[in-house]
Amino acid sequence: MQDKKNNRDLTKTGLKIIGVVLSLGGLACTIVGSVSFFSSLGSGTLPKLFWLLMIGLPMLTIGVAMLTFGFRRTDVPKQATPNNGTAESVPVMKTDEKALLCPVCGRENAAGLAFCEHCGAKLERRCPHCGKPVNTDAGFCGHCGKQL
Ligand SMILES: [Zn+2]
Ligand SMILES: [Zn+2]
Repeated sequence: MQDKKNNRDLTKTGLKIIGVVLSLGGLACTIVGSVSFFSSLGSGTLPKLFWLLMIGLPMLTIGVAMLTFGFRRTDVPKQATPNNGTAESVPVMKTDEKALLCPVCGRENAAGLAFCEHCGAKLERRCPHCGKPVNTDAGFCGHCGKQL
């Protein structure tokens, strides 16, 4: 039985080791090659260690790339995508406090109406403070005295 996670960890560890070796080796080659290159600039002759620069730079690049790959987390946790209105977010319609609900058909009627506009039933207005029925055109509750 092969453990996939172990396998991947081994691969990543290998990548890190090779990446470090390549990076350091490439860096050393680049430095040696650069020093050799610049020190022989005035002499007019091609530096002996110029090839180090030529292989050092790609080695460094590959090593850094491998290191980046080795240290990169493959198990990226799923980001909780915020709901940008894509999901159904039906806004709850807040019933207008002044609107009158018809006791017969249950539909809303504008405040001040005595009869339901939908079924013609007599509308009952209830005091928002004490919950008792009040006249549809009342300004104050006849039961608790609070303003409606
Ligand atoms: Zn009604
Ligand atoms: Zn009241």
